[in-house]
Amino acid sequence: MLTQAPKGTRDVLPAESYRWQALESKMRKAAALAGYREVRTPVFEHTELFARGIGDTTDVVQKEMYTFEDKGKRSVTLKPEGTAGAVRCFVEHNLYAEPLPCKMYYLDAPIFRYENPQSGRLREHHQFGMECFGAKEATVDAELILTAYHLLQDLGVSNLSVEINSIGCPNCRPVYHKRLKEFLGERINDMCETCRERFDRNPLRVLDCKEKKCQELTKDAPSMLDLLCDECKNHFDQLQKCLDGAGIPYRVNPRIVRGLDYYTKTVFEIVTETPDGKLTVCGGGRYDNLVEQIGDQSIPAVGFGMGLERVLMLLDSEGIEIPKPEWYEVFVTYMGENQQKAFALVQQLRAEGIKADMDHVGRSLKAQFKYANKTGAPVTAVIGDDEAANGTVKLKKMSDGTEQVVKVEDAAQAVRGMKE
Ligand SMILES: [Zn+2]
Ligand SMILES: [Zn+2]
Repeated sequence: MLTQAPKGTRDVLPAESYRWQALESKMRKAAALAGYREVRTPVFEHTELFARGIGDTTDVVQKEMYTFEDKGKRSVTLKPEGTAGAVRCFVEHNLYAEPLPCKMYYLDAPIFRYENPQSGRLREHHQFGMECFGAKEATVDAELILTAYHLLQDLGVSNLSVEINSIGCPNCRPVYHKRLKEFLGERINDMCETCRERFDRNPLRVLDCKEKKCQELTKDAPSMLDLLCDECKNHFDQLQKCLDGAGIPYRVNPRIVRGLDYYTKTVFEIVTETPDGKLTVCGGGRYDNLVEQIGDQSIPAVGFGMGLERVLMLLDSEGIEIPKPEWYEVFVTYMGENQQKAFALVQQLRAEGIKADMDHVGRSLKAQFKYANKTGAPVTAVIGDDEAANGTVKLKKMSDGTEQVVKVEDAAQAVRGMKE
């Protein structure tokens, strides 16, 4: 127990964290290009925020939250998704009083869901998300879809496609709900247990079921798209015009509903084909009523979330390599009494911006060389007795074995030269 991380969590080891950093840096750039600035919100929030925000009929709130009472007897919950916290932050700091829209992104936000590990999902995973508050036009829905799409494309993910749908608004959805329930009511007894459960609480989600049998039974279900009110319909048309203009592949898929209650109008997923079937890499949508539900201000909003673990897994499975940064640029070895000289040289090199290190575990010179090789440092420095006496250092380029002796004060410049 003591040396085992909790079920559903995963360490990122020092040798692999560069992959995360590379991904994060691309995400930051993509967000910044579209004017989204980073927001950082706490890992836990009042439980009420999620119950009210996400909707207590959802699986997330009913079954999957990490909720506990703190020592002050307050019920708190580890974030089960990224949006509600951003909304709370937006309202609490009166960001709606500033010129809108208010664009923000979060990165590396840990998300906690008590899910069945069988589904292969971590109980703690990390998300990148972008949220835009105060913009009702579908141009923002489109810019979010395009930003996510181009990010994944830049990373090298292949076979990407965008699926969009509109699930309407409080004006037009109730009529649809009623028709859908009538349709499902005649078939629900033949459907899976999850669907039967969802039928009462959230019939839209029955359309989302991955079971073949259920998909077959709902094949001819009524489509929300046929019942959209004028406003929703115009919005959806506007979105499609933007995507058409951008020239990315997308399709209207009336079965995309997303799992959370707060969505209105646009919902979308970015999917990729894998040998095991379709995989959703990014999902999001519009939530025009959530801000009001949480904070009384009626402010339209739209956003998406993207799981970092899933993107990295995808890069792995597609064999897309992320360039590994150099661990060290130079490794300083020393002989006998020259430890202090080596130490001083390492400090000097670091001060000049060179990634440098030396032996700290008492290795012989031969073993130091072996270790230097293992670190992949392109240059190895040697301070033997001659060098120590002359104030010089011998530099060896590992790729071809060429050597040069330089004055200690010229070491940084020489290392740079040898690396080119
Ligand atoms: Zn509507
Ligand atoms: Zn089902």
